[in-house]
Amino acid sequence: MPLIVDGHVHAYPATVFESARTWAAQRDETWWADCVAPTDRPSIQGWADLDQLLRDMDAAGVDQAVMLGWYWQHQTTCEENNQWMARWRRAHPDRLRAFAAVNPAAGRTAIDQTRRWLDDGFNGIGELLDRVQGFRYADSTFAALAELARRYDVPCNLHVTDPLLDQRPGMQPTPLADFTTLATTFPDNTFILAHLGGGLALDPGHRLPPNLYFDTAAVPLIYAPTCYRQAINTVGIDRVIFGSDYPLRVYPRRGPTPDFSRQIDAIRGTDLTPTEFDAIMGVNLLTLLARD
Ligand SMILES: [Zn+2]
Repeated sequence: MPLIVDGHVHAYPATVFESARTWAAQRDETWWADCVAPTDRPSIQGWADLDQLLRDMDAAGVDQAVMLGWYWQHQTTCEENNQWMARWRRAHPDRLRAFAAVNPAAGRTAIDQTRRWLDDGFNGIGELLDRVQGFRYADSTFAALAELARRYDVPCNLHVTDPLLDQRPGMQPTPLADFTTLATTFPDNTFILAHLGGGLALDPGHRLPPNLYFDTAAVPLIYAPTCYRQAINTVGIDRVIFGSDYPLRVYPRRGPTPDFSRQIDAIRGTDLTPTEFDAIMGVNLLTLLARD
């Protein structure tokens, strides 16, 4: 049986989420605080410590999860995030992998620290969101990070917001053309565009460079269940990667606790062939990560 691998998970210790706004205020992480613990609207964020994460993976038959770093505004917070992910990964090397949190705006420090995590066994870089982190993908600071990723042959996971949604609170506009330009500028890099690339993977009208992959994080919040079939038909069976955005509650009306099962069941309920299912649920990502 091919493995089920969730390529887009965010994991936090209880010390972070038990008082999220205070923790964030101490670090000046205003964007994260307003995303995960907003004061002006109900939150769809759920939380899980390491034990709960592993229990929920077991319950849903998720063999491995890739913990992504958050797109922190400060490199110091990226390092804190990397330290706890490194501890968890070492404790459960058969279940957990990690992508390094990094803020390219921090320049040399960001590159040096990311190199250390890649040497430590991290499998990639991200999630990044340029406009929140204070840089642009066209900047030289990002070029240096892309060069590092290329040297280690690891993918970068980038947050993409669907332009149809970017007026909602907590949404940062990310013009889709930025990502096709980026992929063309760095043809030897691999980019995983989160959230089905903000719809890029659903629209046959875009010419997409071959070094773009697309994860399915949080898509139950924004697209119909037909999006998985549509993405495979648009970008090809090899370029769609299952991700959940756990512990985000991507089915907010179905209860207060996050889980993996609902989205996996929804994907099982589509018309994907067993080969297509296996490809997106693990084979594609493991193939990508096995290259380094
Ligand atoms: Zn994410």
